[in-house]
Amino acid sequence: MIWHTLKVGAQLIKDALFWIYHSGSQALFWLDSWDGHPPILSSFPHLQPLSEVFSAAGWDTVEHYKVAQHDGLVLRFHWKHPFEWPPGGSEGDRRELSQLLASRACNSLRGTDVLAWDGSNLSGKYSVVAGYKQIGRQLFGDIEVPWWKHVWHKLSWPKCNFFMWLVAQNRCLTWDNLCKRGFQGPSMCVLCQGCEESVSHIFFQCSYAREIWHFWWGVWNTTCWHVSSLVEFWERWGRAPVSTSFLQAAWAIGPSFIIWNLWLERNRRIFQDLQLMAPHLWRKILHSLGETIVAKCDMTMRVDPRDVDCCNRLHLPPPQRQLMRNRCRHPTPKVNREGRWSPPPLGVLKINSDGSSRGNPGHAGIGGVGRDSSGDVQFIFSEYKGLHT
Ligand SMILES: [Zn+2]
Repeated sequence: MIWHTLKVGAQLIKDALFWIYHSGSQALFWLDSWDGHPPILSSFPHLQPLSEVFSAAGWDTVEHYKVAQHDGLVLRFHWKHPFEWPPGGSEGDRRELSQLLASRACNSLRGTDVLAWDGSNLSGKYSVVAGYKQIGRQLFGDIEVPWWKHVWHKLSWPKCNFFMWLVAQNRCLTWDNLCKRGFQGPSMCVLCQGCEESVSHIFFQCSYAREIWHFWWGVWNTTCWHVSSLVEFWERWGRAPVSTSFLQAAWAIGPSFIIWNLWLERNRRIFQDLQLMAPHLWRKILHSLGETIVAKCDMTMRVDPRDVDCCNRLHLPPPQRQLMRNRCRHPTPKVNREGRWSPPPLGVLKINSDGSSRGNPGHAGIGGVGRDSSGDVQFIFSEYKGLHT
């Protein structure tokens, strides 16, 4: 098994290598890829008999087919004329090879040939991206799923992204998929208790799921539409109907939060015997979505006045208002030169500490840092102090 895999891997790598030929003393004329073209024998397999004639005469590498000629002081190389070739082979094959060579430039370079990576990139430099693409192309062809960018959106949570990837491929463990694996058990959807549970049902067609999607489309003030699979969903997905950038981010990652939370709700009902009604689940979704947007997006951006309603429906405070409020309550402290931290004298440690409580009284904690005369941190500490004022 291991050998088999290694053999496959070796072939993949071999297929992705090509020679940047100089003298041509390393690159095999018939079998290797050189000059950015696939190996001659793989493109012109009918020239096999001719290749055998040349090999028998010892003409293996590209170098054998080149000839040097002085052009004034410059040494130039060109392809040898067919009458300089070893005799043998059919006339037709010889003519075809001659035409083939005429179509390829003959490098007049001397020096060692260089083995390079990835025939599609003539710089020959290996990069992980080029390697991955090349191997992927060889194994699966040029298939790129159009929805990968939606599924792997960088602002969403990795677990939501991963789960969406499973849903897109109908691979998450709903009852129908468990049954395919020989699992015996109830197969009813716990969200609506009216249908068989499947990926398509639980995330898109279930009355409970539709209620959640209805809330979602309401946020954007657009017509509600329903689909039966995630792939179909992304096919119909369009541009955000808003122009404010953090709202566009919410538009892009919202579906992943909905799908992930529908799954959590399904599991809550099965494993904890608890349930949230759709409006409650929707509030939970809005909460996580809002927190993520506030944490990851630039909220100081100006909001398009047309988007303010949408902002409110997402429970996101419009930034200008938020900024103004912050300015009133917490004026930015002016840092003056005297107020700046300065290191203590040699041999003395300076400790800066502070404490705070969440509420009055509330959960309180303290923390601090001790630094030496060169400003290097020597220790840090923090402690929970219980309920304090
Ligand atoms: Zn259902």
